[in-house]
Amino acid sequence: MPIVNVKQLSHRYAVHWAIRDIDFEIPQQGIYGLLGANGSGKSTLMNILCGVLKPTMGDVYIKGINTKDDPVMAKRLMGFLPQRPPLHIDLTIEEYLRHCAGLRLIPRGSQRKAVDEVLEKCGIVHFRKRLIRNLSGGYQQRVGIAQAIIHNPELVVLDEPTNGLDPNQILEIRNLIKTIAQDRTVILSTHILSEVQAACNHILMLAEGRVVFSGGVDEFDSYLVPNTIVVSVLEPHAAEGLSHLQGILEVEPLGGTRYRVKVTDVDEMLEAIVQHSVRQGWRLRGITAETNSMETIFAELSKKNAPTTD
Ligand code: ADP
Ligand code: MG
Repeated sequence: MPIVNVKQLSHRYAVHWAIRDIDFEIPQQGIYGLLGANGSGKSTLMNILCGVLKPTMGDVYIKGINTKDDPVMAKRLMGFLPQRPPLHIDLTIEEYLRHCAGLRLIPRGSQRKAVDEVLEKCGIVHFRKRLIRNLSGGYQQRVGIAQAIIHNPELVVLDEPTNGLDPNQILEIRNLIKTIAQDRTVILSTHILSEVQAACNHILMLAEGRVVFSGGVDEFDSYLVPNTIVVSVLEPHAAEGLSHLQGILEVEPLGGTRYRVKVTDVDEMLEAIVQHSVRQGWRLRGITAETNSMETIFAELSKKNAPTTD
């Protein structure tokens, strides 16, 4: 039984379709990254998954439970940290988590234990008496994650959990997410490519509301392979020389002393260009292999998956 099954999901705000015909299945535990530029529909999809937003069309099943038919049962199985964390900043961490435990229908007698456990798990025991408003962004985010797992759900959905944090806080939150993913499924969203590569096992990529890639991180990496080299040489006629070199498919002047060349084999051509420029006395100033940028990948994948009719 897949943990999440999404069927033909579409959502429209007024006349604008935010997501279109989304189908996917999350069969097992792990960290699933929902990747997409701002406005690609990540939050819309997550809000629908978690039952916060009613979809215009389509269905979501959480462990086989249709969220339309039995929203209460479905919500018991999942926790959610929205893009804007629902924190009550005038409560202490402990008071707030106690309140969340109540909302999650944890029996009164077990609430204290549940709160103690998530405080421990999220590394905030020492701040339990502190007002949430006085915590740093990173610690507020830990409280947000704590409320999402307080009822020990099998699925946790985190909308841009590292957005707005500094690099140290990002590392800490990423590690916390890895810890909580040890015994449950986590779906997190981000608009930063390196974030999914660092944290996720699987990627689902959205572009303009449609799924344009779904698969393992390794599979995604194949889109990132370097296929161009940027060369900087002082020789003014280098462009012509480069275009005659075997293995170079295309030369694009980038202005000044820089050229981007498209090649058949990056490793081989790095070597060949260096040797050639030495032989020709081109005065090489720099040479680097370029990987595809996320924008290129977005564009390529969107083209490949563009609907034939609309
Ligand atoms: P993301 O989280 O990937 O940035 P969103 O799901 O927030 O994307 O937004 C997807 C699209 O829907 C965007 O074009 C956004 O402007 C639009 N949108 C989001 N929320 C609303 C709303 N409440 N009303 C109208 N349009 C919205
Ligand atoms: Mg969003």
